Amino acid sequence: MTTTKPSIAVIGAGLGGAAAAALLQKAGYPTQVYEQAPEFSRLGAGIHLGPNAMKVMRRIGIEDQLERMGSHPSHWFSRDGETGEYLSRIPLGDFAKQEYGAAYITVHRGDLHALMVDQLDQDRLHFGKRLQKVDDQGDQVVMNFADGTEATADLVIGADGVNSVIREHLLGEEAPIYSGWVAHRAIIPAEKLKAYDLDFEACVKWWSEDRHMMVYYVTGDQKEYYYVTGVPEPDWNHGTSFVDSSREEMREAFKNYGPEVQALIDCTDKVTKWPLLERNPLPLWHDNRLVLLGDAAHPMKPHMAQGAVMAIEDAAMLVRCMETTGADNYADAFELYRANRFERASRVQQVSHDNTWLRQNEDPAWVFAHDVYEVPLKDPKTE
Ligand code: FAD
Repeated sequence: MTTTKPSIAVIGAGLGGAAAAALLQKAGYPTQVYEQAPEFSRLGAGIHLGPNAMKVMRRIGIEDQLERMGSHPSHWFSRDGETGEYLSRIPLGDFAKQEYGAAYITVHRGDLHALMVDQLDQDRLHFGKRLQKVDDQGDQVVMNFADGTEATADLVIGADGVNSVIREHLLGEEAPIYSGWVAHRAIIPAEKLKAYDLDFEACVKWWSEDRHMMVYYVTGDQKEYYYVTGVPEPDWNHGTSFVDSSREEMREAFKNYGPEVQALIDCTDKVTKWPLLERNPLPLWHDNRLVLLGDAAHPMKPHMAQGAVMAIEDAAMLVRCMETTGADNYADAFELYRANRFERASRVQQVSHDNTWLRQNEDPAWVFAHDVYEVPLKDPKTE
């Protein structure tokens, strides 16, 4: 007997949605992807991909390309922003490969995203489709888009980020919580840094009491160096997802920091500023034919560099659960998925909120060694 796999719509082609769609298409599910943006551009930002994410990239088939594309830091260093003293030295590099089962890389977010989106069936990837309304009719889901078009699917995955329309449909309108912190982001050509007699380490977080600057290379050839900060700012009233910042604002925010950070600020041409948004863990991740993943389910401060990685792990676990129960049992699959993601995602949300990750020497194995394909599945009934 042949069973036909249910049709799936993924809303949002961010890192979580792209991972889910790539894995679903590989597993033979007819999967359409609807993305509101008219296209994607290479915005100035980097991202860490820990071994836990690289194991999913292996399944998608892009681990080797990413290893070539990314920088391979030997360590995550934490240092006192003012004195330069080392606070922690977390081994990565070959150690990560041996101990955690895959490489730890840092990469340009745009390059990673483009590579992931390239893995999708391009005929089933629809740009300029902003979901406005979703109607779960019991036997199918009807989606209405802002351009006046309509589509249907058997199952819908809300990978539509912190302001998810699917989350709102499930749980009602509620703005995310502004954390009281912003992040500045800038990419600097490494060429400029040669003018300084300083050591610019491959992955280092400079800390002081209430703020930090995380710095790393985003390309394998180490031509682009990137910083992302966490700085307190009581209000965010800009009404946009980011605004331009300035070298002067950076100088003021990090005036007590040492020469490496001052050099980075001196070399900054363009810097943007982003509000850091969170939600408390959601009471509901799925209902009937709708299910959430990534920031739609658990947006967090980015201070563990694990937000997108959690979205990618979610995607892999969701597909694993659908294959385990059989996708016709989607209610069981979605509940199995939630039971196997909620605790981990909520813990990562909390540690990210506290901003304590790797500030001191600690064992990161619970995050990095995690293998979403090997971890024994928890039965939702015994949670
Ligand atoms: P998103 O990336 O937000 O993607 C959602 C997609 O859905 C978007 O493409 C959007 O256009 C689309 N969409 C939204 N609404 C609709 C709609 N109605 N209809 C159709 N499409 C829609 N994470 C890491 O793992 N490592 C890091 O180093 C890291 N650094 C970060 C630094 C900063 C400053 C910030 C702010 C975040 C950082 N993160 C990092 C977190 C990471 O960016 C997010 O957790 C991640 O992007 C979540 O992925 P997602 O696919 O769930 O959502």
